[in-house]
Amino acid sequence: MLEVTPVRAFSDNYLWLVRAPSDERRAVVVDPGDAGPIEAALAQQGLRLAAILVTHHHPDHVGGVQALAAEHGVEVYGPARERMPCEVRALDDGDVVSRADLGLEFRVMAVPGHTLGHVAYYGHGALFCGDTLFSAGCGRLFEGTPEQMLGSLDRIAALPDDTRVYCAHEYTLANLRFAAAVEPGNTDVLGTLEAVRELRARDGITLPTTLGRERRINPFLRCREPAVRAVAEARAGNPLPRPADVFAVIRAWKDGFR
Ligand SMILES: [Zn+2]
Repeated sequence: MLEVTPVRAFSDNYLWLVRAPSDERRAVVVDPGDAGPIEAALAQQGLRLAAILVTHHHPDHVGGVQALAAEHGVEVYGPARERMPCEVRALDDGDVVSRADLGLEFRVMAVPGHTLGHVAYYGHGALFCGDTLFSAGCGRLFEGTPEQMLGSLDRIAALPDDTRVYCAHEYTLANLRFAAAVEPGNTDVLGTLEAVRELRARDGITLPTTLGRERRINPFLRCREPAVRAVAEARAGNPLPRPADVFAVIRAWKDGFR
């Protein structure tokens, strides 16, 4: 199993530090929005940076890329279809990031929706999904359509149940409050909400999650469930024959949910 540690940045971002399986003194970072916390974590853990992976172009994901790449002279991997802060190894769907020197290999998945060129990295039973999937939630549709985002979530949901999902933000508690509003009868949601409330009261970290868990608690992965469709249709006031229509109603509801 990969050894992955969270590095906190800004108010609720996690920058993920992945230790190289074949060289325990080196690590890869995913979405370093800020170089400072990464430098501190590397120093504290006695690690050298070996590569940078980027999921999408938002500043809280790329803000530290240039400084880290210059300081450490490492390769940056990023989405081919988005503007990156520096030269990157441009990746698109189906590409493989293969670093035998580190014992790491990730398959690249195009997951448009939050942004149009957003990619995710899957390998070693782990998924680094940026702002596409959150625990009990999903990213806002800044650039893509509901159809695109649901398509991306469907592809993620096809990965094995025990896939560990490293989301980029600590949004789980607020997401679960919303999930409980969508499915007040979902005991998995209610039980997880209680556990997460306690964990967050101690400033604990709720990630990684697993896909098996998300399938039970995440309303955006549950658009085909009759109960979710029914509540979306009641909100819309008309039938919603397509899962993407259900997704669009739930996503818009969440955007205004407090
Ligand atoms: Zn983003």
